Amino acid sequence: MAYRKTAETEEILKALEKSAEKTDFERIRCPLCNWSPNASSRWWCADCGAPEYFYGGCGASWNTFETRGKCPTCAHQWRWTSCLRCAGWSRHEDWYLKNDS
Ligand SMILES: [Zn+2]
Ligand SMILES: [Zn+2]
Repeated sequence: MAYRKTAETEEILKALEKSAEKTDFERIRCPLCNWSPNASSRWWCADCGAPEYFYGGCGASWNTFETRGKCPTCAHQWRWTSCLRCAGWSRHEDWYLKNDS
């Protein structure tokens, strides 16, 4: 049994590939100042008091929105993300703009 690839399924596959490999930084905003990060923004895994209370910072530097807040080196799941512009802390999921539709 073989399925024929139509132009339509081709389009859907392409769209899926695109969303899987690219973080859509346009849809990520600081809830406090509306700053939008980009692919070259970097966060650090470091000891942190309020609000995260994490004292095992491994010193890694990476783009936290490409891993949904998870440190790629020590696998700590950051629940809070600080803004590189206003330095305020917000819950990681609050950075993602919600789809209203
Ligand atoms: Zn780490
Ligand atoms: Zn901000």
